Formats: sequence, structure tokens, C-alpha cells
Amino acid sequence: MSKVAWDYIVPVKLPADLKGIEPGKLPAHLLRPIEAGGKMHWLAAAAYNAMDEAAKADGIELKPTSAGDTYRSYESQLAGFKQRYQLEPVVGTSTKTFEGKTWYLKKGMAMLATPGKSQHNLGLAVDIANA
Ligand SMILES: [Zn+2]
Repeated sequence: MSKVAWDYIVPVKLPADLKGIEPGKLPAHLLRPIEAGGKMHWLAAAAYNAMDEAAKADGIELKPTSAGDTYRSYESQLAGFKQRYQLEPVVGTSTKTFEGKTWYLKKGMAMLATPGKSQHNLGLAVDIANA
């Protein structure tokens, strides 16, 4: 039987040094830059950079969609959230609860996690433009 891609998917364990750290408020010493721009938690950055090197060896240039799609501070997630969601009801759209209120996705906007709830706020996620 051949090995398929999803054989390599393993559950993400929260790095021990993130215990007690507020999402979006990582201290600078836990963050490392990744090659294409932006920062990630140091363990995720090491894994990303290794993947990036392996991809390069295969002739693939991985690029994050933007530096803001690597680690995101709480403030950055909040700004993005408020760009995409509003308190005034929008008919036929999806909603999120944030700070005890219902927020409505603006027309034509892509969904975004509420501030503090994104893997980007832990420095563990990166969105790749050319996956
Ligand atoms: Zn993402």
C-alpha cells in the first residue's frame, strides 16, 4: 500500500512554554522570524523553515499570504476582526460572538477567528499563498 499525504498529519500539541501565555501577547523571546517574512513561535518557525528548505530543494518557493498571516498580535487580530465584522445585523451572513455581543460578517468578507481564538495568535499558524 502506498503512503498518502494524510499519514503525516499529527495533532498539534501546545508548546509547553505557551502555557499561561495570553494568545496574541507572546513575549518576543518566544518568537522567531521565518524566511519569507513574519514571525512564528520558535518551534513552529523551526518546523516552517525546515519545510521551506525541503520545498526549495524540490523547486517550490513557499510564501505566506502576508507577514500578517504568520504570528498575529491580539491588536492585529482585533483590527482585522473589526474590518470584517460589524455589530449592525447583516441578513444571511455568518456571526461570531465576541465580548458578549453578536458580530455579523460584512458582505464579501472572508471569515476570521475572534481575537485570541486564532492559531495565528499563538504563532502556530501560517497561511501559504501558493500551497
Ligand atoms: Zn490562517
